[in-house]
Amino acid sequence: MKTFNTPNLPIYNSHSHCFTIDHVPEDFAKTMVWFYWLFPISWIKRNRVIRKLIKILNNKSVLKFLSWVFPKLYKALPRLLSFVEYFNIVEQEKMIKQLRGYYPLDTRFVLLTMDMEYMAAGKSIKTFKQQLDELAAVKADPEFKDIIYPFIFADPRRPGIDKLVVQYMEDLGKPYQGIKLYPAIGYYPFDKGLRGVYEYAIANDLPLITHCIRGVVHYRGDKNENKDWLVHPISGQKLPGVTNYEFTANFTHPLNYECLLNKKLLSAYWKDENIDLSRLKICLGHFGGEDEWLKYMTDCWLPADYFMMPNPKTLDIENPWYDLGDKKTFSWFSIVCELMRTYPNVYADISYTLCDDRIYPLLKVLLEDSLKITPGPNVYRIADKVLFGTDFFVVSKAGAEREMSIKLRSALGDDIFDKIARDNPAKFLSSKLNPL
Ligand SMILES: [Zn+2]
Repeated sequence: MKTFNTPNLPIYNSHSHCFTIDHVPEDFAKTMVWFYWLFPISWIKRNRVIRKLIKILNNKSVLKFLSWVFPKLYKALPRLLSFVEYFNIVEQEKMIKQLRGYYPLDTRFVLLTMDMEYMAAGKSIKTFKQQLDELAAVKADPEFKDIIYPFIFADPRRPGIDKLVVQYMEDLGKPYQGIKLYPAIGYYPFDKGLRGVYEYAIANDLPLITHCIRGVVHYRGDKNENKDWLVHPISGQKLPGVTNYEFTANFTHPLNYECLLNKKLLSAYWKDENIDLSRLKICLGHFGGEDEWLKYMTDCWLPADYFMMPNPKTLDIENPWYDLGDKKTFSWFSIVCELMRTYPNVYADISYTLCDDRIYPLLKVLLEDSLKITPGPNVYRIADKVLFGTDFFVVSKAGAEREMSIKLRSALGDDIFDKIARDNPAKFLSSKLNPL
């Protein structure tokens, strides 16, 4: 018997992508391996042999070998392969049709655009503006109007980002539904350049989706160029990370969202007593990542003195942000859960993370337990704030998309699956500008 209502709501995949190879910057492979210059995007696009080679490298036994010799390339390859699998599709509409093919016909899709022009990886074949207009044209098509929900990417370094967001969110007949953030490519979520975007989002109850997982899409330039990147601008802690891949955790760390949503911390940093973004409707994409879920499950629960401080709290930014030797910090999983319990409109999606089925038992228990709690004025249940998403096509080799969704649904059972794939997304996505 159902324990909550799902009045014929469709399934929503709250995290997917349809950008194509033409939107990926030329030196995307930079910093992954020293021989990155072998893989410029235009070259991979033109050259079948290189594409074949990337496919061969993804063979299980070759991958095993690579994990010893080139661990970084080993981590990056599945993503590179996903791009290669879809490299021959240069129209976003075709990508969307492919994605739809894996789901029941009335399934809806959140499509997250990507602005990779400021990650110091060169230019892409098509500009960000072209990417936005192409997707808007698909949204204008009656066949897709109620099926796709595009999100506009907001990078504080892009001049006029406030105006651009408003323009696409209020585009009559083909509006964007929400805003996408991706700090990994070189900015903090509390960057003052996003103030206008955040205030506009709060005023209109707009949904934002950000990226909270370690990953291969990150800043490719010289991280020593920016003096703000030596110590954390709010916690004051020295920032670790030698390689760009390691350093990216400083931008994606979930405690950055405590810095953004905690009125006291943000007002002090922005030097404005009136600023309060604690009601921002924001989804932490990927829920911290499967590695952090495994860390939560395998590490023992930490005694208070483990932190060398009297009373450590999960969201206390004075805590160490990273494991120091044998001293372990809270997992990103714990921090994301705590943000959801503390702030009224913080959500998390399980995209990409769900490709590791070792996390399913924890997800099920977390949701079931949370449903036993009675929600109240200041009691926010995690079960009301988890969203189903997959990260198509970044996560998938062909065919895996359907497999993942079915495996997850079967593991969680229909009641809970409906909660995260139907009820919660419908609430998250609806806004004053575009109510669902
Ligand atoms: Zn994604």
